[in-house]
Amino acid sequence: MSSAPHSPHDYPVNEHGFVRQCAWCRRVADADGLYRLVAPKLVYGASHGCCEACAIRFVSRGLKPTA
Ligand SMILES: [Zn+2]
Repeated sequence: MSSAPHSPHDYPVNEHGFVRQCAWCRRVADADGLYRLVAPKLVYGASHGCCEACAIRFVSRGLKPTA
């Protein structure tokens, strides 16, 4: 396994030129803005937020994110 970071250019970017990735489950938003792409690691230069699934999970369980 290489430890080199994934290029942001491997994934679709939003109108600001950023890849959107969930900081917790590592999913990346596709061209439709849905977190459907699974990345094995954090994407270098991505805009890290929280996907809908993680938002629901953390809110419903009250768990602390481990990012
Ligand atoms: Zn997530």
